[in-house]
Amino acid sequence: MANNENVVVKKCPKCGKEYRGHPAISREDNITPICPLCGTREALEGLGLEQSEIDKIIAQIPNVEDK
Ligand SMILES: [Zn+2]
Repeated sequence: MANNENVVVKKCPKCGKEYRGHPAISREDNITPICPLCGTREALEGLGLEQSEIDKIIAQIPNVEDK
């Protein structure tokens, strides 16, 4: 009888990976829930950073999705 809303695994439509926890909302349509990592990536893209720069930053983000 588990009703663990917070533990439900969601699938990110952007990267296709499964994730848990609080989703980010895609900036593309402001509706689609995406994984926090993609949310960060979109935010960085919104700042006009280069892909290589974004990848570097993403790689340094610790995995906090299970918090
Ligand atoms: Zn994703």
